[in-house]
Amino acid sequence: MNSIIQSEKRCYITGDTNNLHCHHIFGSANRKLSEKYGLKVWLRADWHNMSNYGVHFNRELDLQLKKTAQLKWEEKFGSRQDFRRIFGKSWLDME
Ligand SMILES: [Zn+2]
Repeated sequence: MNSIIQSEKRCYITGDTNNLHCHHIFGSANRKLSEKYGLKVWLRADWHNMSNYGVHFNRELDLQLKKTAQLKWEEKFGSRQDFRRIFGKSWLDME
């Protein structure tokens, strides 16, 4: 499935259209679910994993993307309870 987070192939952070990587927001454990529901974004290589601020090394950005993706999922597919059941946890009720 195409991304439900963005419609254009541009870096989610910078808007750039070159040197893009596809990032699965819920990572390797939930890669299939990210694919199934379109929970992925385009990121410029540095914002992906080619720098220390890239999402794979940047917990704050990682969490921000997960929260955004969960909200989009809930808009389109189901309740928070459903999300928690399918993905194993919710990122929106964390302290
Ligand atoms: Zn990635």
